[in-house]
Amino acid sequence: MTDFFEHHGLTRVINATGTVTRLGASPLHPDVIAAMADAAQYSIDIAELQGHASSQISQLTGADAGIVTSGAMAGLLLGAAACIAGLDPVKMGRLPDTAGMRDEFVVARSHRNSYDHGVRAAGARLIEVGLSDRLTGAGVRDTEAWEIDGAIGDRTAGVLYLARADARPDLATIVRVAHARDIPVLVDAAAELPPAGNLRRFIEAGADLVVFSGGKGIGGPSASGILCGRRRLVASALLQQLDLDYVSGDWQPPASLIDRHELAAVPRHGIGRGCKVGKEQIVGLLAALRRFSQDDDATRNQRWGAVVAALLDALEPLTAVRARRIEDAGHGNLPLVEIRLAPGVQQASATQLAARLRAASPAVHVDATNADAGVLILVPTCLRSEDVVPIASAFAHALAADP
Ligand SMILES: *Cc1c(COP(=O)(O)O)cnc(C)c1O
Repeated sequence: MTDFFEHHGLTRVINATGTVTRLGASPLHPDVIAAMADAAQYSIDIAELQGHASSQISQLTGADAGIVTSGAMAGLLLGAAACIAGLDPVKMGRLPDTAGMRDEFVVARSHRNSYDHGVRAAGARLIEVGLSDRLTGAGVRDTEAWEIDGAIGDRTAGVLYLARADARPDLATIVRVAHARDIPVLVDAAAELPPAGNLRRFIEAGADLVVFSGGKGIGGPSASGILCGRRRLVASALLQQLDLDYVSGDWQPPASLIDRHELAAVPRHGIGRGCKVGKEQIVGLLAALRRFSQDDDATRNQRWGAVVAALLDALEPLTAVRARRIEDAGHGNLPLVEIRLAPGVQQASATQLAARLRAASPAVHVDATNADAGVLILVPTCLRSEDVVPIASAFAHALAADP
């Protein structure tokens, strides 16, 4: 691998920020790579392969159906397009022009985020409601269910919900309100694995569609994800993602997923055709998902806990920082290393330290989200045991430089 970086003149990165897309997301387990390499050799009917994926995803999530997408954001686009167009090939063909269609997604203001661009890309308009003054500190409340209810009307296509351990209102309440008005709920749970229980939790709470990222906790290819939920909606999403160059009208899609009799015609390429997935992503995601669901959270945490313990040992001699183990309660108690600057030592700020680590060779990327508060976090999910020594020595060099 070192040869790869030297050969191409690229920077080797040690990723202690977790499974972020900008650093290539999750490194793949050899079993996942083997499954992808195997699939890469063959030709296969992608619709049939998605039918197979659907039965695997449905077993592990409890959803009626599921498909592999090119990521969670692609899942949001496809899910929104499904809620808007249903199984109508004419509507599918018009998107993102939604003239005359139900095209609004109601969303709690505190759930807005950069990835909801995926929903808007389908042609939807977001209708933001509520105030999250519990988050600004100016109050104690978040958006409430009656505010979501009040925004549902003739143009509502769905309710968008961002799943987080601390999300308000809770999903079951939103589902109750939306279903009382016959409106589907689309849940963005991209980064909510682990805990493994979340594979089923949102479907159990009544969500109509749920998206997960494949390249985060599942450990699949970076350009993969899952969209699962009600069969008709998943069928619509798949139709809008597939390449549909079929000359004859007798195309037989996978019967477990798409009922050909429900379709007035075979649609043309849909709005999700640009988010296509190849056989390698589908097979790789399924292999990773199998591995993810065979492990339990405790086993995973033990494995990462060993890396965390080794990091703590290696950072121990550095008197300018205090490192300790913390746990991410929202993600199945994933162990992390928290690093704070030791008080009373004249030295660089945490922000400067993070910049120096990034400039090291190999580059060390740490989670600097709270660097303003003097805190850096090392996330073990993309680290190997051989990364521990170079991380500690990058810290030693960065701390030794003048403030
Ligand atoms: C990471 C993330 C996404 C995007 O996931 P991809 O699989 O990279 O497309 C969407 N929503 C949220 C909340 C995320 O954290």
